[in-house]
Amino acid sequence: MEISKGYITDLKSYLPDYLLTYHSINSRNFFRCLNPEHEDKNPSMHYSDKYKICKCFSCNVRYDIFDLIRLDYGIDNFHDQVVKVAELFGKKKPQFNYPEKDYVIVDYNSYYIFCFNHRFESDYLQSRGIDMDLQEEYNIGYDPKNDKIVFPINDNCFFARGTKDDSKIKSKGKSYLWNEKILDDVDSNDLIYVTEGIIDSLSLLAIDKNIKTISLNSLSNIKRLFELCEEKNLNCNFVLAFDNDSAGLSYQKKAEEKFIELGINSFPITLISNFKRSKDLNEALLEDKELLKRNLDFFDTQLKIFIEKTNQKDEGDYEL
Ligand SMILES: [Zn+2]
Repeated sequence: MEISKGYITDLKSYLPDYLLTYHSINSRNFFRCLNPEHEDKNPSMHYSDKYKICKCFSCNVRYDIFDLIRLDYGIDNFHDQVVKVAELFGKKKPQFNYPEKDYVIVDYNSYYIFCFNHRFESDYLQSRGIDMDLQEEYNIGYDPKNDKIVFPINDNCFFARGTKDDSKIKSKGKSYLWNEKILDDVDSNDLIYVTEGIIDSLSLLAIDKNIKTISLNSLSNIKRLFELCEEKNLNCNFVLAFDNDSAGLSYQKKAEEKFIELGINSFPITLISNFKRSKDLNEALLEDKELLKRNLDFFDTQLKIFIEKTNQKDEGDYEL
């Protein structure tokens, strides 16, 4: 991310102007949530000047100006979002010195090695219940220059998040799913846990390192999963363990319908319905690890029994 932090911070501060000019929203008051998945009857969204984001107190989404550009203009990649904001507010266009198009392949491996070598300089993941062994297993590193935890997705694409400011960045490169390589070798007995965020998947692995899990990074990436199902002709089973909020639930429902169409078993479940405070798997891990483990064991066992029975039945049908 060769553009300066100051430049991005400056663009982020245009959020109130953006809301006013392009949404006729006065950011001093609560307003209707901008999440298209959330039908917000009472205005639940509020602008935070401290973080330069707007946050929904009902479905919990947080948007900065670039997220809104993605939603409003369908622009997925960060570079083009930055250019768009610069354009809208007459700012000088940024100078990126990495290749600008997603189809130009960038090899990030030396960057991963650099970040991995600095992994002990941040205890951010440990503070979220993810230990160093897991971090090492998944080659997760720390970029001290940008104060970001760096999660490689593959050689040419990574996801990074700030340790203090909650900022999230996806590198150049196509939006792949985190850990999607496990789908290369699955069969009809396998149960794959699909989560929204990498830290959610890591939270499951923190409980049971044999669990098979992939993470979407962003709910809209579910389309990549459908593509893979068709491309690889997958016949495994998916557990849809999205966040327990309206966006998560609405995507679970849509995904379930699509999986039926594809002839693939999917199970929309929540592993955290009996938690008091947690809205996602990582919060649950921190709130009560034992309870989360019991929930996971319970569902995992039940679902595997179900799958085994279904597969036996299918074989039986075949013999007839
Ligand atoms: Zn909302």
